[in-house]
Amino acid sequence: DQNHPPLLYLDGVSVSFDGFKAINNLSLIVQHGELQAIIGPNGAGKTTMMDIVTGKTRPDEGEVFFTGDIDLTRLDEAAIAELGIGRKFQKPTVFESHTVWDNLELALKKPRGVFSAWFYNSSKEDEERLEEILATIRLTVRRDELAANLSHGQKQWLEIGMLLAQDPKLLLVDEPVAGMTDAETVETARLLKEIAASRSVIVVEHDMSFIRDLAARVTVLAEGSVLAQGSLDHVSADPRVIESYLGR
Ligand code: ADP
Repeated sequence: DQNHPPLLYLDGVSVSFDGFKAINNLSLIVQHGELQAIIGPNGAGKTTMMDIVTGKTRPDEGEVFFTGDIDLTRLDEAAIAELGIGRKFQKPTVFESHTVWDNLELALKKPRGVFSAWFYNSSKEDEERLEEILATIRLTVRRDELAANLSHGQKQWLEIGMLLAQDPKLLLVDEPVAGMTDAETVETARLLKEIAASRSVIVVEHDMSFIRDLAARVTVLAEGSVLAQGSLDHVSADPRVIESYLGR
């Protein structure tokens, strides 16, 4: 759609660490409502790419456009988060001694400041939104459980729910199924597809059966740039992709 700029557009981005180009003239597009999987061998630049999008790392060259004309490379991490970019790191970080519901409620109120959470009463709309999020993250029946009592997979889902409470336009998710059971992994693919129905999601993962379940567009990174892009079947038949995984 020519009248609708992509949600995220990395245009010729490069970054070096001590003279080593971790990201090398990388261009990448994420459309509105797209679920995109980023794969690639260790050291390909996946983490650095996410660090650039979230403002943790500033590129030496190139621009990162969000919703068309906002250049993220000029903004700091807090401003980028405020624009609606949420990031889920690999390790879950939930408030263990609070219930599932309270974790979501705290996340909802975070922009108002942690202390206001005790004074500000949730509106009816807030509660309805949290109920929806609970259903999305498969934790409706565990809403009054302490987060400490959840399985590893459920903690990952709760943290995704906490990000959803902040209503991001773009969600970056780093290796969500590492350490999950097979059943949790299958459920995580469904959950992320549901989320991507109303926002864009980038998932960095190594687990190929999970990537297959996601049925996402796959971008293969190698040596800091895009090596191949398309369906999983398409990219995994590409000789350069096979080489980059096996030829090292
Ligand atoms: P991936 O997530 O795909 O495994 P990374 O983005 O973590 O790859 O790393 C890409 C390359 O950049 C690697 O060679 C890594 O050693 C290097 N690198 C990443 N961050 C830094 C840093 N802060 N300082 C020096 N080198 C770094």
